[in-house]
Amino acid sequence: MASRNREQNVIAARWTADGTELGRTDLTAPGADIFGENVFSPVVLKQRLPKTIHRKLLRTLENGEALDPTLADAVATAMKDWAMEHGATHYTHWFQPLTGSTAEKHDSFYGPVGDGTALAEFSGKELIQGEPDASSFPTGGIRATFEARGYTAWDPTSPAFILENPNGSLLCIPTAFASWTGEALDTKIPLLRSMDSLSRSALKALKLLGDSETERVFTTVGPEQEYFLIDEQYYFERPDLINTGRTLFGAKPPKGHELDDHYFGSIPERVLACMMDTELELARLGVPIKTRHNEVAPAQYEVAPIFESSNVGADHQQLTMQILQNVARRYGLVCLIHEKPFAGVNGSGKHNNWSMSTDGGENLLNPGATPHENLQFLFFCSAVIQAVNKHQGLIRATVASVGQDHRLGANEAPPAIMSVFLGGELDRVFDAIEKGKTTRSKPGSFLGLGSDVLPPLALDGGDRNRTSPFAFTGNKFEFRAPGSSQSISFVNTVLNTVVAEAIDDLSAKLSKALKTRKSIEAALMPVLKANLKENKRVLFSGDGYSEEWHAEAAKRGLKNLRTTPDALPEMVAPATIKAFTKYKVLNKRELEARYEVAVEQYVTGLNIEGETAASMARTMILPAATRHLAELRAAEVPALVDETAALVDELFAAIGTLEKANAGEPSRGGVLNHAKYMRDQVIPAMEATREVADRLEGIVADDLWPLPKYQEMLFIK
Ligand code: ADP
Ligand code: MG
Repeated sequence: MASRNREQNVIAARWTADGTELGRTDLTAPGADIFGENVFSPVVLKQRLPKTIHRKLLRTLENGEALDPTLADAVATAMKDWAMEHGATHYTHWFQPLTGSTAEKHDSFYGPVGDGTALAEFSGKELIQGEPDASSFPTGGIRATFEARGYTAWDPTSPAFILENPNGSLLCIPTAFASWTGEALDTKIPLLRSMDSLSRSALKALKLLGDSETERVFTTVGPEQEYFLIDEQYYFERPDLINTGRTLFGAKPPKGHELDDHYFGSIPERVLACMMDTELELARLGVPIKTRHNEVAPAQYEVAPIFESSNVGADHQQLTMQILQNVARRYGLVCLIHEKPFAGVNGSGKHNNWSMSTDGGENLLNPGATPHENLQFLFFCSAVIQAVNKHQGLIRATVASVGQDHRLGANEAPPAIMSVFLGGELDRVFDAIEKGKTTRSKPGSFLGLGSDVLPPLALDGGDRNRTSPFAFTGNKFEFRAPGSSQSISFVNTVLNTVVAEAIDDLSAKLSKALKTRKSIEAALMPVLKANLKENKRVLFSGDGYSEEWHAEAAKRGLKNLRTTPDALPEMVAPATIKAFTKYKVLNKRELEARYEVAVEQYVTGLNIEGETAASMARTMILPAATRHLAELRAAEVPALVDETAALVDELFAAIGTLEKANAGEPSRGGVLNHAKYMRDQVIPAMEATREVADRLEGIVADDLWPLPKYQEMLFIK
């Protein structure tokens, strides 16, 4: 019988780079600036297109018109030539279906020309539009079976890039994915629509606030990604990690993060080598990675880029997850991006830093240094507060998933209650607004604060509240609740849409007030005061993890949607449908489709977990325990035999309950009821099985135990 033994740990610890040579690139060498090397950037496009055609293209894009065929052909040819010079043999329309991941269908550049040879060709038509079969992607009932076609459409606002492979590279063209009848089947279309809506609303507001220069407002995103790296040997020994991304069994190791020696600690050499290679790869793809560090849990790390426009940032986030996972394998590691790979150990999130920026590069959430900039800032900041309060349930729903149910509301993660943290200085400012100190107490004093502008706000460091799900951090909001494996597209789509709605509401009030008041400040302050009164309940600066907050939040009437089945119906709540249809981001049918897909994914995810847990318990853990029992019997130690026999019986009973839960399903009530059944029946049965199994892990002979243990996975690097 093959048993696990310490030798595997020794092999894991004595790693060698797998498949690549270490030190192959010297980043400090002159000319080694590889940033964007694999990107068909606007600069490359300009270099490769004739001047007149390039000018025509820019005009078309600016006006949002359809490309005419000759233009499209010219771009396609330039793109193909560039891609082939970079070793690409195939191209794909790279899109993001509702699975939350990315999809690609590869087509060769080469086509036969009839004389037995092949010629490389890529037309404008092929660039602009593709027709993948939509029937293999979740559509939430949008796609009728008689019309399985979907189509992909080139997104010229996100540059094409090359994914390398040792055997030939692939040109990826970011595209949108829609049904033949024009309904969005992906995450990019609504994101682009929401960016347009927010831009329109913000421009209207800026005009009222006296800015007539700005022509476009972009939403920006800088997502911080947390992840784990473990030795691949352990990963492949665990069906739970392979099937579900998390460990369904595993006793707490003797050493956890109690020592706090991991956070910001020095990074182990193998991990650092892997990180640097990942960053190198991402740099070539034009993803501007800036920060890396150890996270709180052992074997947990974080990577963060410099922020970009939401659309490009969301594409780059998908690439970041993909490259993290690809490169890890070269170092004999596996990258886990699940929200909770290890029970009892910190989970992984993805902090979504969000702001709005003008085409002139002005950050609308930057308090600025003049009274005018301050007013503008207070206006937009108030809009965000209103939006989060009004749509707290929907915002909660954007981060709901199987993995997140282990993280949100659990001890170390932000609670499922949405609240906004402003920080000490801003609290003081909003306090002044609330008290109506709009008449200057002394000449040149802004809001009676004793200075003529806002006091400087802490951008970093000290004044931080890590327990708040939605925190203002100096010049942006940091939404800390998204899960590590999630696409950030829908999160940002929702933020953009609900903030656009709040901006319009405030603009209407401001515009009315401007009719009777002589200055912008005099008109704006009463509007902000009334707005604050209405939305104040969502502001909270205390400890978001505390019991008191849960009680207080309930008193304030804030929603506490603890689990995914509680949260998802918010995606189709009347207020959601109203905002999304008003801003033409998603219609009712499209929202219902998304809701349906999300509920189904929850059910499927839990079903896979339940089945995997049952099969591992029955075919791996139970046999290990009975072998151990047989050894004890042979050794004639009755006390030990009794102890183990009792646990084996308990485990067998728990497996029986789990198998029954797995086989059942409610006969009525649709897919949401099914989701609730999974939550209320399957999860407890899995947990009960795990509880006995983890106790057995503590007594069964180590060489008989069939699974790598937490201490091995987390501490051998
Ligand atoms: P921390 O971990 O303290 O929150 P980091 O420096 O790790 O801070 O992350 C900050 C993130 O916020 C970075 O990804 C950064 O690009 C992003 N960010 C900074 N300014 C903006 C902005 N205006 N809009 C969106 N994201 C921003
Ligand atoms: Mg952060």
